Amino acid sequence: MIPSCGVSPRLVGDGLMLVGDAARQASPIVGEGIRFAMLAGLLAGRVAARAVRRGDASRQGLLGFERLWRRQFETRMRWAQWINERIARYSDDMWDRRMAIIGRFTPAQFAALLRTDLSAGWLLGAMATNGAARRYAVERVAQAVRQRAGR
Ligand SMILES: Cc1cc2nc3c(=O)[nH]c(=O)nc-3n(C[C@H](O)[C@H](O)[C@H](O)COP(=O)(O)OP(=O)(O)OC[C@H]3O[C@@H](n4cnc5c(N)ncnc54)[C@H](O)[C@@H]3O)c2cc1C
Repeated sequence: MIPSCGVSPRLVGDGLMLVGDAARQASPIVGEGIRFAMLAGLLAGRVAARAVRRGDASRQGLLGFERLWRRQFETRMRWAQWINERIARYSDDMWDRRMAIIGRFTPAQFAALLRTDLSAGWLLGAMATNGAARRYAVERVAQAVRQRAGR
């Protein structure tokens, strides 16, 4: 099993830090979790060492880990979750249509997608170089606007 239920609302408690799958830190795009668990473990280890030196392993004393993790990973994991929820519902026909977009990513853009290196820069780059992705984004925005307007 790979966690795919979104970013955990809490990562620390008194004397406790969650990392890896237990903290829902795997990327649900391709199910990559080892690198993310190790990177979170590194951050947690640094914060734990400081907490031990200060003699404060309370939730407050460990919150630095949660802040660091969120700054580095939260946005891209939210994107990954958003993508996962959509592709999980795709029919075969929908996959065929979406492949028209995915097939036009540059190798670097596709590799970044697989690594969950998703950012505003990645999105803008994809929009700039991929007409199919641009049309899809415009459609999605128009759909969201129509939904908000109740139409
Ligand atoms: C089939 C499959 C394929 C995958 N392929 C990839 C891949 O190719 N690349 C990739 O990056 N990720 C992959 N993943 C995801 C990856 O395995 C996990 O995201 C990653 O291992 C999470 O590391 P972790 O340390 O958080 O948890 P785990 O690796 O699950 O380690 C948790 C450990 O805690 C132990 N444990 C559990 N309960 C207790 C307890 N009560 N007391 C003591 N010990 C306990 C478990 O036995 C386990 O050894 C795959 C996952 C699956 C299921």
